[in-house]
Amino acid sequence: MNNDSIPANIAKVLQQVSNAVEKYHRPPQSVRVMAVSKTQSAEAVRTAANAGLTDFGENYLQEALDKIAACEDLGLTWHFIGPIQSNKTRPIATSFHWVHSVDREKILRRLSEQRDANLPALNICIQVNVSREASKSGVAPEDLPPLLALTAGLPNLELRGLMAIPAASDDFATQKQACDLMATLFHEAQSQYPSLDTLSMGMSADLEAAVAAGSNMLRIGTAIFGARQR
Ligand SMILES: *Cc1c(COP(=O)(O)O)cnc(C)c1O
Repeated sequence: MNNDSIPANIAKVLQQVSNAVEKYHRPPQSVRVMAVSKTQSAEAVRTAANAGLTDFGENYLQEALDKIAACEDLGLTWHFIGPIQSNKTRPIATSFHWVHSVDREKILRRLSEQRDANLPALNICIQVNVSREASKSGVAPEDLPPLLALTAGLPNLELRGLMAIPAASDDFATQKQACDLMATLFHEAQSQYPSLDTLSMGMSADLEAAVAAGSNMLRIGTAIFGARQR
């Protein structure tokens, strides 16, 4: 895709988000937009940053590290949102500000050990397999409590919230149901860990349902950068 359409796409997404915020009586400015730049070039990231976005999400480690280096002068906030292999935790722990896709103890322990203690704590969202899909990462809702407790107790990590990728659906009511379940899990977790402030939920196709349910961090790829090549 031509990078020229990125600024207009961003304006359109931000308008959709502010419409949904108003429609569902969410507080103004309460929903952050992360641009998911996987498979996109560093130039595309630069264009989106010039259009005002500061948060970028990546799924594939090597291409992410290249882009982080190429965009270092921009002072962006980088979020790792892809599957994590345990032998790849070190570069994630050192190069990213947030990790949204953690769903097991071993990964949490390694990220904590490998995060430089001189850096601010690594922000963690635990991924929940809210639609219980066999193909998806994430903990089952009932397995969440021990992972929350572990994260809260580990040094160099900051427990920030929950992340979900609800099952794809074209139906608003179906999308909303999964998002509502996540919101319930989030409020339960928040009552025990008051530092929790992030519900990372909502992509290009379900952002309205996510805002309606209470998401405060949307992860938007296609609607900003166009369809991905791979
Ligand atoms: C790719 C991806 C997104 C963005 O999806 P779009 O449908 O392109 O907006 C969001 N979250 C995760 C975890 C992803 O892998």
